[in-house]
Amino acid sequence: MALIRHFVSGEEFGSPERTGPVFNPATGERQHEVILASVSDVETAIAAARTALPAWRKTSLTKRADVFFRLRHLLTERSGELAAIVTSEHGKVLSDAGGEIARGLENVEFASGLVNLLKGGFSQQVSTGIDVHSIKQPVGVVACITPFNFPVMVPLWMIASAIACGNTVVLKPSEKDPSAAVFLAKLFLEAGLPAGVLNVVHGDKVAVDAILDSPGVDAVSFVGSTPIAELIYSRASAMGKRVQALGGAKNHMVVLEDADIEAAADAAVSAAYGSAGERCMAVSVLVAVGGVGDALVGAIRDRLGRLVIGDGTHSSSEMGPLITREHRDKVASYVAAAAAEGATVVVDGTQKQFDSAGFYIGASLVDNVGTGMSVYTDEIFGPVLSVVRVATFADAVALVNGNQYGNGVALFTRDGGAARDFEFEIEVGMVGINVPIPVPVGAYSFGGWKKSLFGNAHIYGPESIDFYTRSKVVTSRWPDPAHSKIELAFPGNS
Ligand code: NAD
Repeated sequence: MALIRHFVSGEEFGSPERTGPVFNPATGERQHEVILASVSDVETAIAAARTALPAWRKTSLTKRADVFFRLRHLLTERSGELAAIVTSEHGKVLSDAGGEIARGLENVEFASGLVNLLKGGFSQQVSTGIDVHSIKQPVGVVACITPFNFPVMVPLWMIASAIACGNTVVLKPSEKDPSAAVFLAKLFLEAGLPAGVLNVVHGDKVAVDAILDSPGVDAVSFVGSTPIAELIYSRASAMGKRVQALGGAKNHMVVLEDADIEAAADAAVSAAYGSAGERCMAVSVLVAVGGVGDALVGAIRDRLGRLVIGDGTHSSSEMGPLITREHRDKVASYVAAAAAEGATVVVDGTQKQFDSAGFYIGASLVDNVGTGMSVYTDEIFGPVLSVVRVATFADAVALVNGNQYGNGVALFTRDGGAARDFEFEIEVGMVGINVPIPVPVGAYSFGGWKKSLFGNAHIYGPESIDFYTRSKVVTSRWPDPAHSKIELAFPGNS
């Protein structure tokens, strides 16, 4: 059993006073132990980041960009190895792990354009003899706290832009699948990033609280569940830090009567059950408008009968296990609760038998779900798709807008006018039109509305450059000493 240690100042670090288990969800086996940081471990990592800051913020933009070009090459070359690590600790199938690495690479590519991204503005002669220019400077030490479900992509959402902007970083990945973060930090080092610019500490609430309370941390990027996001946002803001905290989701897919039923069913199955539903952009509610419900539910039920669930390392598997045994059991409890509350359980995945001690559960489809049922109100984060039937397009929009979350939403239709209205009216941060998982490409930013994001900055892309920099505006005059005079009035324009 390997011991997974912190990675600080370019070296593995930490003693196993307190550890947590890292399972292989496909076998149920406890395969590694991870060190859970003490307050002093966290302080060591923050001190390393602070020590590395002066030199890194002075490093030329071209030298910084070089690191990202080399990193892109290394990540591409070693993506198979990294995908295997993700699958062994998270459980998602290998092709899905490869997909998250590819999406994370977009953030590395975006960051390698930093010379362009960090351009300021210049206005000549704003007043006679006076020029103004603006510059973007790093915020300082940035803490990045990430969830279990994308152990490569979500850290890259944050650290690529944070480092490109001249900050130094303390990354606290999920303690459930921590190895990918250390692999990434080692790859950054190999790509030429100086030791101490990117540090990894493992841990739980103790580590996170130490980060939030430390005066040595200037900004916090968090991605995780809504209750924790809300806590992080209020505690870090109260400590005077800049903070963005992305939370959970309940993503709806609205299907209108004119939609292609087969295509909509394919999209719903892919988006609801991919990665066993453990995606913040997974579709968990299907909104069947008008008379579309019966055909759509039938088409999805047929597809679920053919879904191959198994070990993520097997090429035939389409869906792997859940992250832990406890999470699997909690997901199952929602299907039972839905049945008890009067919903129709069309496919009950909780009854499926598996010849393995892994954390497997079958795919469930629940019809005639009401908005008061826990299967609708809660983020389940598992392979359970609820179907809510509504009469009209307006009812569908009202349903989505009434939900506490606003991460992603999709509309399936052939009607361009309806799509345009939907885009205008819907209160959700990321909208897909005939696209079930509308995760924006790296040149745009990612983020939800309502309880899916606390703070005002979306993550990666252009908004990340604003989040990870402080702007400074310089007003300058190079006076001609011959015309210098005393002027006590407030400077006006002349
Ligand atoms: P989580 O909130 O349990 O954990 C996220 C991070 O917070 C981890 O690093 C964890 O160690 C830490 N943490 C957990 N409990 C804490 C506490 N009490 N105090 C301080 N820190 C704590 O989330 P998770 O289960 O790892 O990930 C799944 C959740 O993340 C889902 O809700 C999902 O929707 C959300 N998510 C959101 C997005 C998004 O972009 N909005 C993306 C991915 C995942």
